[in-house]
Amino acid sequence: MSALAIEYHKGGLFLPRLGLWLDPHEPRPGAVFVSHAHSDHIARHREVILSPPTARLLRLRLGGERREHVLPYGEAREFRPGAVPFRLTLLPAGHILGSAMAFIEAGNESLLYTGDFKLRPGLAAEPCELRTADILVMETTFGRSRYVFPPEATVWREVAQFCRAAMDDGVTPVLLAYSLGKSQEVLCGLADEGFEFVLHEQTHRITRLYQEMGRRFASCHKFEGQPVGERVVLWPPGALRTKLLTATRGLRCAIISGWALDSSCRYRFGVDAAFPISDHADYPGLLEAVQRVTPRKVWTVHGYAAEFADVLRRQGCDALALSEPDQLTLALGA
Ligand SMILES: [Zn+2]
Repeated sequence: MSALAIEYHKGGLFLPRLGLWLDPHEPRPGAVFVSHAHSDHIARHREVILSPPTARLLRLRLGGERREHVLPYGEAREFRPGAVPFRLTLLPAGHILGSAMAFIEAGNESLLYTGDFKLRPGLAAEPCELRTADILVMETTFGRSRYVFPPEATVWREVAQFCRAAMDDGVTPVLLAYSLGKSQEVLCGLADEGFEFVLHEQTHRITRLYQEMGRRFASCHKFEGQPVGERVVLWPPGALRTKLLTATRGLRCAIISGWALDSSCRYRFGVDAAFPISDHADYPGLLEAVQRVTPRKVWTVHGYAAEFADVLRRQGCDALALSEPDQLTLALGA
């Protein structure tokens, strides 16, 4: 068996020869690489390998204690939790602050695990750095050809117009954005528009931590029931909006999400408008990543994993979806 053999377990990946887990969704023993601090990538593991910002965000989100191997980007570190020793280097993934890809070397082979990533430079995250590798394990959230994001500067102008139009009509603009990562991109994307912002408590807590780590934002106030006035509200999509009703003269809501490219997005989130800004790579970004890594084998996970692997196979690339065992069987059968 290759030292870099890989298995899929309930959304997490495991390299059995190395004894290394990658982003498992459930608490796992032994060494666990945590690519970033989004809730679908973290759990109460005992021993984690992560970047300095992810370590701070993890402490904020989970509390508790764990053994931390905090690695700066670009610095290789040796590990031996399993049968085969390996070297692991973190590279910025461009997804949210602190998000990292894992570049793993074992035997004579290398593997790049992207975690969630984005090639286009974000405003509040470190720019993505790819590295050539023998094996590429990549997320494919937007792995369908129709997911091509428009230039972000254009979208931010449209978001600003949406906010101004709402205020002109005497209602409060509410931008729905995930509290970690997306909200801070919104604050940066609208930085030159002269808005003041009111933030949901959770968004405010995370934004404060971004500020402690050196990021600068426009004027932000925590929502504590006060009248919102002529300000833009930033709110997580899953949080109840009823508390806002008494503090405003009416709401006009927009979702900030890559899924805005789907016509159903507005209805799914129950909003007046949807703007396509994402912290993931779009379809051309996914193809570009494969071209730049020049792997001899690609494993895809998350989103349109099977479809994107199929696209790569048609281009002559040895690619399979890790997350969909049926597709794996099909591909092997073919
Ligand atoms: Zn994420």
